[in-house]
Amino acid sequence: MRQPVPKTMPVNRSGGSGQVFGDIYNDALPIFVHERVLEEVLEFSETEVSREIGGFLVGGFHEDGRRYVEVRHFLPAHDVRSRVASLTFTHETWATMTREVETKFPDEVVIGWHHTHPNFGVFLSGYDLFVQRNFFNQMWQIAMVVDPVRQEFGFFQWRGEEIVDCGFVCIVE
Ligand SMILES: [Zn+2]
Repeated sequence: MRQPVPKTMPVNRSGGSGQVFGDIYNDALPIFVHERVLEEVLEFSETEVSREIGGFLVGGFHEDGRRYVEVRHFLPAHDVRSRVASLTFTHETWATMTREVETKFPDEVVIGWHHTHPNFGVFLSGYDLFVQRNFFNQMWQIAMVVDPVRQEFGFFQWRGEEIVDCGFVCIVE
């Protein structure tokens, strides 16, 4: 059963206020996304509408009190193999991302990944599930899919062995 969470969820240490989007499972790991990061991801997604592009969500998995993840930064993926309806991260993609996180955000971790589905909707394909299971298999790692043509997006998170779509809290600073 899905239940909307109250709009007064505990918020991050930066002390902004949060707005809930979508339904969040009662016992789900809450996902907090800074509004400026969300805007950055959506703007990046709209730069290419004829094939898939992607990137990485960077931030923290916090266990102080209630557990939650907080998305604080976005890194576009480089050296990808980009097609109309598929996206492959190459060895160079991973190497560049690892280096960028180490230099730009040394105290942060990769919370998850992002990619676009231009005009075919928000879901995880079989290959997307493969990527999630193989490269983002920590229970706190998430996926974000953006359809820049239909102007829809959504988040996905682990629920046991399954990967399910989920809501999130947007932090407005
Ligand atoms: Zn996909």
